[in-house]
Amino acid sequence: MVPIVYSPLYNFTAFGLERLHPFDGRKYRRIHEALVARGLRRPGDCVRPRPITRADLLKVHAEDYLRSLRRPDVLSGILEVPVVRRLPAWAIDWRILRPMRYATGGALLACRLALEHGIAVNLGGGFHHAASDRGGGFCVYADVPLAVKILHDEGKVGRVLVVDLDAHQGDGTAAVFQGWDWASIYDLYERDIFPFPRQSEDYPVPVDAGLAGSEYLWIIRESLPAVLDEVRPDLVVYNAGSDP
Ligand SMILES: [Zn+2]
Repeated sequence: MVPIVYSPLYNFTAFGLERLHPFDGRKYRRIHEALVARGLRRPGDCVRPRPITRADLLKVHAEDYLRSLRRPDVLSGILEVPVVRRLPAWAIDWRILRPMRYATGGALLACRLALEHGIAVNLGGGFHHAASDRGGGFCVYADVPLAVKILHDEGKVGRVLVVDLDAHQGDGTAAVFQGWDWASIYDLYERDIFPFPRQSEDYPVPVDAGLAGSEYLWIIRESLPAVLDEVRPDLVVYNAGSDP
């Protein structure tokens, strides 16, 4: 059985703000419930992660950036939710950042389990707009760069490829990878939408809006195998994103 990493603590329901944002803060629970409802998993089958530690966060993130997250004005900009400005710092940490630290720990655990079992899934994370020293587009922690950096430092993986099929460019992941010659990103994203300016990437695949599903899959089938051949990664992290 493919390991699925999930914690009920991924979900955030802070003061109704999850309803103010197009990003659904309870979707993780919904995905878990759907898997159980379809008989694909029993409620106790998922592997529960520990939250990412501060020491691990510092392997990718600048200390100044992590400190700036205590400021409601900084965080309301990243989360695109002005009401966050009026929340006390403790509430932001407990109700918003802690769930994201669990999801980031989940990305690391899923990568470890993938190396062990061949494949694993994290039902959260994919915060691909977060870079070392900035967040954006609702992404605070660079979960995938953090996970692969930790495994790379441990000598568990050499080359890593991120396949990012979210509709938006994974600019944060790409920015972190600029300094790492062992990590690459294949990124299929919609040409005319956030984020701007574009981050340069190893394998950018900008596409037009309004693609049919069959065209979308054709583009991936035509371009991804050659990238896999060229990179020959020890680990592939597929970021499904929120949009497909
Ligand atoms: Zn997106």
